[in-house]
Amino acid sequence: MLSLYPDDVGIILTYRCHGGCKHCLYNCGPHRSNEAMSIETLRDALTAVTLWPQPPKVHLTGGEPFLHFDLLLEGTRIAADLGITCYVETSAAWCLDEAATTERFAALQDAGMQMVLISCSPFHAERIPPIRTLRAIRAALATFGPQRTIIYQSSFLDVIQAFDVTRPTPLSQYEEHFDAEELGQLLWHGYGVLSGGRAGYALGHLIPKRPLAAFARTSCLSEMLYAPHSHFDLYGNVIPSFCGGLALGDWHTLPELIADFQAEQYPPLIDILIEHGPHGLALMAQEMYGYQPLPEGYAGKCHLCVDVRRYLVAAGDFEALRPQGFYEG
Ligand code: SF4
Ligand code: SF4
Repeated sequence: MLSLYPDDVGIILTYRCHGGCKHCLYNCGPHRSNEAMSIETLRDALTAVTLWPQPPKVHLTGGEPFLHFDLLLEGTRIAADLGITCYVETSAAWCLDEAATTERFAALQDAGMQMVLISCSPFHAERIPPIRTLRAIRAALATFGPQRTIIYQSSFLDVIQAFDVTRPTPLSQYEEHFDAEELGQLLWHGYGVLSGGRAGYALGHLIPKRPLAAFARTSCLSEMLYAPHSHFDLYGNVIPSFCGGLALGDWHTLPELIADFQAEQYPPLIDILIEHGPHGLALMAQEMYGYQPLPEGYAGKCHLCVDVRRYLVAAGDFEALRPQGFYEG
């Protein structure tokens, strides 16, 4: 039976952030449009979440949601009014000052925010001085307390403090301390990197790649239909699982979308991914549009999927390949 009933929905307020991290599944960064959800759209998105019989919790995210703090604050109030359990995800790039950081967290807590998740990884540290991450953690602990402060991932706290915390740490600095295999283990397996977004391209050299044929038996049925974690973005896209750049449909018409899926009526590319995974998508793209597999292979099934999708976006107009900004730059 179809689920499409996630237990955690991220609402992407904007795709812009300060980071541009190499592992980012949504291709976010400073190059993305500064466009953000309007308050009305955010209210609609939060209301759509309540249509599920067992409303999931919501995380307000990006990109960097603190780039639009008034929107974040108002969204928190709306979520609280609707009885939605709500937390916020941040890269801490904006945490330049201890008092201002605490002030913003306190305002969110007063508005009804229940938890804060602070990103902590060598990928973030490559763009954001770790001192800001540490500042955000101190302020969050003081405001929300340890039970409601999530450090993702706390196992990297020591790693990001191994170098000068006042500056970003390029990943190349780790290469002086670890051999290639150890670094691959630390980054890919230690963090649990998925190969979608820009990860397969930017970090794929750290792990063995596999040819197209190695993915012949992969399927994405669980990610498409039973994902416990999904996203709504500012353009109306329902993004399944962690599949940046892929839209199941429009959350403005969520009941119709769920009904279509229950009737097993899927958008064409989604149908292929459910049945045959990215290998099936690659075969279709080869036969119909002339896609050529990467000779060096792929870092994982999501790398293959993104590579084929990037090709298809240039070859035709596919409603599932949204938002457009994912495929630009
Ligand atoms: S992981 Fe977060 S901070 Fe990094 S590019 Fe993506 S949204 Fe931005
Ligand atoms: S292969 Fe594509 S559809 Fe499947 S989980 Fe990865 S990004 Fe999503």
